[in-house]
Amino acid sequence: AAKSRGRNCMQLFQPDRHQMAHTLLQREQEFRRALQQNQLEVFYQPIVELATQKLLGFEVLLRWRHPEAGWITPAEFLPLATALGLAQKVDEWVLLKAVATLHQWHKELGAAATSLTLSINISDAFFASGQMADRLKQLLQTYGICGHQIILEITEQVIMENADFARRQLEDLSAIQVRCSIDDFGTGYSSLSRLSQLPLYALKIDQSFVRAMSAGSQHLEIIRAILSLAQAIDIEVIAEGIEHHEQQEQLLQLGCRRGQGFLFSPPVTAQMAQSFISRKYCAPEVSVNTTDARP
Ligand code: C2E
Ligand code: MG
Ligand code: MG
Ligand code: MG
Repeated sequence: AAKSRGRNCMQLFQPDRHQMAHTLLQREQEFRRALQQNQLEVFYQPIVELATQKLLGFEVLLRWRHPEAGWITPAEFLPLATALGLAQKVDEWVLLKAVATLHQWHKELGAAATSLTLSINISDAFFASGQMADRLKQLLQTYGICGHQIILEITEQVIMENADFARRQLEDLSAIQVRCSIDDFGTGYSSLSRLSQLPLYALKIDQSFVRAMSAGSQHLEIIRAILSLAQAIDIEVIAEGIEHHEQQEQLLQLGCRRGQGFLFSPPVTAQMAQSFISRKYCAPEVSVNTTDARP
């Protein structure tokens, strides 16, 4: 009986594994094709001054327009890109796209486009390559963009893994006026002394803290702690995932000056982002209807 059960298990197991390998292989081929056929697109989410809702810039967020499945978010395809060794290639494509878009906005909007920033997510692999500053320098030169308009969002992990290497990368970027923020701050393990020694621009408070924020909660205390830490080492703070007016109010009361979230706008197309720049503010009541551009 044991033997036959064993055989049954094998029979059940094998087609499953087969199926999984098949799906993975298919996805892999689809993703490679996506890169070649321009199925990747970038969206732009406004980052605002919380007190006034004035537009400060945008975070650049990647999407995959799958021919059958529709829009696919990075959580679903970035792990695949990383596993295939394509993370850096994807990041470089996003950088190119972002800098070219800034160039376009300069041409069409003039001065209105010269003070805003684009925040771009950088994979650990690209950071570890040590090639970011060189690549950016070339791009900025080609498109005539000043580095102060570019902010790179990096993980706590790359900063903490190798302090000397991280410092050199940040200094190379500083030399071309490009700044760096730590993304999803509070979810990893940062050494406070190391943070204070590195030339960082900002900490981004992870949206899990903002979501769970309510009076007296532990998360609110964590946000308070992050804000006082940032003040002590003199760097900015940007809150992510602000969906409700009460969260905006509470963050303001705690002394957080910048943020982003669906309350102000979801990520939108470059064209919609351009209309935000013209309007200068992201008040929820003037926010454009974006249902057809989601996610
Ligand atoms: P992230 O950098 O922390 O980006 C913020 C995420 O929160 C985005 O998810 C954004 O769409 C979402 N978000 C913004 N406001 C709200 C809100 O009010 N509520 C909620 N629930 N979510 C909000 P998205 O676009 O799916 O990106 C997920 C992650 O993928 C990003 O997290 C980032 O780590 C990574 N990513 C996105 N684009 C790129 C890219 O071009 N390169 C790399 N290397 N990573 C990227
Ligand atoms: Mg980010
Ligand atoms: Mg984040
Ligand atoms: Mg995040």
